[in-house]
Amino acid sequence: MIDLSSDTATKPTTGMRQVMATAEVGDEQRGEDPTVNRLLQMVCSLLNKETALFLPSGTMCNCVAIKAHTHPGEAILVDRQAHILRSESGGAAFLSGVTLEQLPSNRGRFTSDDVIAAIPRESVYVAPPHLLCVEQAHNHGGGSIWPLEQLSAVCETAHQYGLAVHMDGARLFNAVVATSILAHEYTKFCDSVWIDFTKGLGAPLGAVLAGSEAFIERARRYKHVFGGALRQAGIVAAGCIYALENHIERLHEDHLNAQILGDGLGSIAGIQVEVPIETNMVFFNVSDTGLEPEDFLAAIEIHGVRMSAMGKRIRAVTHLNISRNYVEKAINVVWKVIKEA
Ligand SMILES: *Cc1c(COP(=O)(O)O)cnc(C)c1O
Repeated sequence: MIDLSSDTATKPTTGMRQVMATAEVGDEQRGEDPTVNRLLQMVCSLLNKETALFLPSGTMCNCVAIKAHTHPGEAILVDRQAHILRSESGGAAFLSGVTLEQLPSNRGRFTSDDVIAAIPRESVYVAPPHLLCVEQAHNHGGGSIWPLEQLSAVCETAHQYGLAVHMDGARLFNAVVATSILAHEYTKFCDSVWIDFTKGLGAPLGAVLAGSEAFIERARRYKHVFGGALRQAGIVAAGCIYALENHIERLHEDHLNAQILGDGLGSIAGIQVEVPIETNMVFFNVSDTGLEPEDFLAAIEIHGVRMSAMGKRIRAVTHLNISRNYVEKAINVVWKVIKEA
């Protein structure tokens, strides 16, 4: 199976499994796992944050961060296509009791004016906003990247209006590799940020949430409350360290493969590819071929290629287990399926 459905489809490599098998471990929830602690230090220095927490998943990072930044009855600002809004089972409302004010966006990116327009005049009638969320790189936006200046401008505006800023950096390193802008340049303006090890970085588990000492102290409590306090997590953290050391630079390959995939698919009659392709994601539409997304996906899967649907859009994601050869095979399968339709 050529699995382009997500960059979560990666399997741990032999090298990664080896370091996991021999990792030094301790009790994570008492702060005594040396491998987790080493990972946290590495992430803090990459993101230039005071301290950090190891969590099982990115979704839990968002839940814990929103909980630590807000009180029930407040509002948070997110863009209309944010993962927090679209793909986390309503967790922000469910666990933190906040309402989600949706900002219009261009592939997930909005402007300072959009932020200002979404902040209501203080009134007894409205839920006061206390947090702005940004996503870098942006998943539903098409793997799109916030330009540094635009990001710093919206963060500055949020801070001026008394809002904290949280970055969902599930794919932050895709943005870093694509632009050669260092991670801490992007995270400088954010009060909290997390990175995911299970996307392009290719680890089986794990995410790290980082911020100030005061923020992480609050977040640590919610990590326990939400059941995210762990024991000998160093086994997993070792895989994450391996990913930081070995799987960042290679994201270039995924980006190049995504370009090749996008070009190939775009040359097939009836397929509309969303451009530009900024990182490792290709979004496209097959409605001109007369195929429904589900039928298209079922047809390519018969030929050993898997992609996913997000509404009417098809998403194909390149990653560690997708070679150039796989990309070419996938283009051929799509071509065949469309021709037969
Ligand atoms: C995958 C993803 C998440 C959730 O992370 P999990 O590790 O799957 O829980 C959150 N935000 C974005 C942008 C993602 O792509």
